[in-house]
Amino acid sequence: MGRFCIFWYDKEMEQLPKENFGETEEAYFKSYEMGEDDKEVLLESAKTLFSLGVLGKETLDDLRIASFDSKNFYVITKGEHQSTDEFKVEDASQNEKDFHIYCIGHGKNFRKRDYAGAGAWYEVPELEETALNAKKVPNPKVLENKEKILKAILIPPKEVFERIHGSRFEYDTDLVFHEAGHIEEMLLRDWPNEGEIPAFPSEKQRREFMKTLDITQDIDRATIGEMYAMMIDREAKRQLGFEHIDMDDEAQKMIDSSHKKGYLLAKALEEKYPDFIERKKWIQSLMK
Ligand SMILES: [Zn+2]
Repeated sequence: MGRFCIFWYDKEMEQLPKENFGETEEAYFKSYEMGEDDKEVLLESAKTLFSLGVLGKETLDDLRIASFDSKNFYVITKGEHQSTDEFKVEDASQNEKDFHIYCIGHGKNFRKRDYAGAGAWYEVPELEETALNAKKVPNPKVLENKEKILKAILIPPKEVFERIHGSRFEYDTDLVFHEAGHIEEMLLRDWPNEGEIPAFPSEKQRREFMKTLDITQDIDRATIGEMYAMMIDREAKRQLGFEHIDMDDEAQKMIDSSHKKGYLLAKALEEKYPDFIERKKWIQSLMK
């Protein structure tokens, strides 16, 4: 499964303490099944994501919030899925009124590194093939894959994620809101037929960004993407009243350079535009 955004994962992750899993680490990941707590937490995060008003309607419209374990993808959506010859879809909505919830079986073997990160813009056949009348959007990886894909974010189950990382990340904001932020950022972009998507559509926009935030070092697209995703997850934290809005030192060490630079830019952006609506409007005007 190709990843477009690998979140909080790098080589150091391979050296995480083994005692968290004992000698059964491999068996743990091979057999993990999402518990009721995992499902509840994901559903609550989805509800917060849709109700908080941090993301635009375009972004939330037909968004899939998916998780997974050793047997199934677990999908929360306002849209619908149905079984195909290849994939079996089970409706797990029960009494849920706001969303449909589906379990879609898979034959994949997810490993530790799959559970350690979250992502946006995956092309997951189990989701793509079973979606009914879904609005699909241009695929950033069109050259390698399908032209259009679902808007989906893939979030590991909380229990596994926290067993790997401890509790230094906020599950709903650092994962769910952050990845949804990556969906929104890419929706703003024009899709080139070939080559890299530039950090800014024009030289004029690039210069305005650099001048306003007083930056001299050149910025790449990945960094702008992380800045945007963090603008979203930090505003969600602020609105939800989380105390630890800044990532701690440990988290700073864990993240790759685009996340780190994006984080610093997101903070600079807040200083320049304290009002979230204005901040978002300004940065969006430079991205499309
Ligand atoms: Zn990210």
